[in-house]
Amino acid sequence: MNVRAVPLNDGRTIPQLGLGVFQMSEQQAEAAVLAAYEAGYRLVDTAAGYQNEAAVGRAIARLDRPEHDDVYVTTKLANGDHGYDEALAAFDVSMGKLGLDTLDLYLVHWPCPRTNRYVETWRALVRLREEGRVRSIGVSNFEPHHLRRIVDETGVVPAVNQVELSPFFQQRELRAVHAEFGIATEAWSPLGKGGVELLGHPTVTGIAAAHHATPAQVVLGWHLASGIVTIPKSVTPSRIVENIGAADVTFDDAELAAMTALDRGARLGPRPDDIE
Ligand code: NDP
Repeated sequence: MNVRAVPLNDGRTIPQLGLGVFQMSEQQAEAAVLAAYEAGYRLVDTAAGYQNEAAVGRAIARLDRPEHDDVYVTTKLANGDHGYDEALAAFDVSMGKLGLDTLDLYLVHWPCPRTNRYVETWRALVRLREEGRVRSIGVSNFEPHHLRRIVDETGVVPAVNQVELSPFFQQRELRAVHAEFGIATEAWSPLGKGGVELLGHPTVTGIAAAHHATPAQVVLGWHLASGIVTIPKSVTPSRIVENIGAADVTFDDAELAAMTALDRGARLGPRPDDIE
């Protein structure tokens, strides 16, 4: 399994495919992280809000591995923790649960524009990076106007913006802004939450049949071919193995164009400006 490393604008890299652990119980998250490591995953995406950071930390501590530092861990600041001091304190709590000294990637989970403290929060993340407590800092669910504001007011460009993205919701305008700033795009709900509309779409199933691949591998393979970092979630061991198999799927130009033509501009999750 050959998962590429994507370069970030801060000189570091991020594995292009990882395991998302949203909506997993502690027990499920611990088991899934162990199964994913075994299958070759080297990135885990959690969040304070998922209530399973401690389980992720336990799984990482249990891994049987030669190198200590070979798992890339992302966590996210919860919406109730916006503000400079609040963000610094929330980071300490997350790190205590994860049992890590240094975090790979810390994200602001949602901009929460009505609370309107995301610029201060961003300054706290900049400090954490300066102090070496986190290697890379980024945001999640930031629209172009949120991105421009933090860059204008702090001069610091996020390394990553993690947003809802799938072949049905390709975020082309936002990705153009990412390209302008050199921000890596990371996709959440990359499988469209596993729905049959996407995984059963004839374009997807047709390409899958032609490649002896599964629909999920084709969808995730499209992310990889498009330069997007992707974090499918599964608690099912066979799907955990299946999903990283996307790294072996290659497309010809016509197939890529057919996948790209699936864009419907329709999101499954909330609009970022609506989240408090
Ligand atoms: P996904 O698009 O990853 O879909 C997950 C669903 O698809 C689950 O029901 C899973 O079932 C199913 N599934 C997984 N693999 C397959 C497969 N090979 N074939 C068929 N079905 C499959 O959605 P998520 O919303 O979970 O997003 C992924 C990750 O993104 C999250 O875990 C989280 O880390 C992150 N995220 C971030 C958000 C943010 O605001 N920053 C918001 C939402 C998600 P099962 O588990 O039963 O196998």
